[in-house]
Amino acid sequence: MISTSLLLALSLMVAVGPHFREGLGKWTGAMLLQATMFALYAERGVWPNFVTIVLPNALFLTCLTLQAAAIREFHGRATSNWWHVVPMFVVATQFALVMDNFLMRLILNSAIYGGGMLALAIMVQRLNPEERGTARWLLLSGYLIGAATMFARAFLSLVEPTAISNLLAPSAFQGMTFLLGFAVILVTSVGFLLLHKERSEDTAQKLALTDPLTGAFNRRTFLELAAKEIARTRRAEGSLSLIMLDLDLFKQINDRNGHLAGDEVLKGVVAVVLTCLRKEDLLVRFGGEEFCMLLPSVAIDRAAVMAERIREAVEQARFSFNGRALAVTISIGVTTLSADGNEDVDALVNRADEALYTAKKSGRNRVVAFPANTTLVMLMKSQR
Ligand code: GH3
Ligand code: MG
Ligand code: MG
Repeated sequence: MISTSLLLALSLMVAVGPHFREGLGKWTGAMLLQATMFALYAERGVWPNFVTIVLPNALFLTCLTLQAAAIREFHGRATSNWWHVVPMFVVATQFALVMDNFLMRLILNSAIYGGGMLALAIMVQRLNPEERGTARWLLLSGYLIGAATMFARAFLSLVEPTAISNLLAPSAFQGMTFLLGFAVILVTSVGFLLLHKERSEDTAQKLALTDPLTGAFNRRTFLELAAKEIARTRRAEGSLSLIMLDLDLFKQINDRNGHLAGDEVLKGVVAVVLTCLRKEDLLVRFGGEEFCMLLPSVAIDRAAVMAERIREAVEQARFSFNGRALAVTISIGVTTLSADGNEDVDALVNRADEALYTAKKSGRNRVVAFPANTTLVMLMKSQR
C-alpha cells in the first residue's frame, strides 16, 4: 500500500508535473498523504500511539477530502480548504476519546471511512450525471467497493469481535480488507486519470471539427457531413436546403474598429444565428466572414423564410465593442437540393453562392433564393 501510493504519486509528478491542473495536484497530494498514512500505521507499537493510530486515521479522511476536492476541481468546482482540516480534527478527537477501546475504535473508524467513500461515490454520480464514460464508472465502482468493504468491516467487528484482534495480525479478514483497499486505490486513480484522458480526447475532437473563434463547424466537417446528408435525403426522398450568409462590408468594420472588434462581431453573429436554427441544422464557418447552414428536411420556401428571419435578427441585434455600437447586416443566398439525383455538395454550394452574389449585387442586407432547376429568383426584400 505504501509503495503503490508512493509510485502513483511519483508517476503523476513525472507525467503531469509541474502543471498540476484540474485536480491532478490534489490527487498527487492525496497519494503522498496516503503513503505517509500507511507508513505511520506500519510503525504501530514502535512509535507512540498518537502518531501511529490517531494521526493516520485522521489523515485517511484528509486523503478522501483531497480526492473529493480533486474531482470537484476537475469539474470546475472550488472546495474550501477547511474540508481537509475540520473532519480530520473531528476524527482525531473521537479517536483520542475511545483510544482504550479497540473494538469501539475499529467500528467507529470503519463506519466513518465507509461513509466517506459512499459520500465520494454519490458526489461522483451527482457531479456529472450525463457523463457515461469509463472513467466515471471506475471512480464510482472504486468508491462503492471501498464503502462496502468498510461497512462490512464495521458490521463484522460488531457481530464477530474476536475475528479482528489486531489490525496488523495476519488473518483472512485483514488480508481481504487490504486487498480490496489496494484495488480501490488503483481503480480510483486509474479512473481519475481516465477522466483527463476522456476530456482531452473530447477537446481534440472538438478542435478538429470546429472553428476555434466562433465554435461553428469548420469547412472540412461540413463537406463530410453534407455528403452524408445529401445521400440520406435522396434515400428518404426528402428535402435539404442550404443557406449561405456573408457579412456586409465587414472589411469596413475591421478597418474602422480593429480586427478584435471584427472577431467579436463574428462571434455575436453566430450567437444570433444559432437562436434561429433548429437542433438538427448544421452551422458552418465556410470562410472568413462567410457562414453556411445546412437544413435537413427543409424545402426552399421554408428555408427562405428562415433566412429572412436570420437576416432580420442580425440587423436588429445590438453589437458593440469597447462601448461602441456596431451596426451589422448580412446578405443571404438560399438554395435547395434538386430532385434529379446527381447533384453533389459543390453544386449545391455553388448555387447558394450565386444567390448570395445576387443579394450582394442588388444592394446587400437581403435574402435571395435560387430554387433548384429553375431560373426563378425569389427575392425577399427587407421591409424598411
Ligand atoms: P461584402 O459586403 O461585399 O461582403 O464586403 P466585405 O467587406 O464583407 O467583403 P471582403 O471580402 O472585401 O472583406 C472580408 C473581410 O473579412 C476581409 C477580412 O479581413 C475579414 N475577415 C476574414 N476573417 C476574419 C476574422 O476571422 N476576423 C476578422 N476580424 N476579420 C476577418
Ligand atoms: Mg462580406
Ligand atoms: Mg466574404
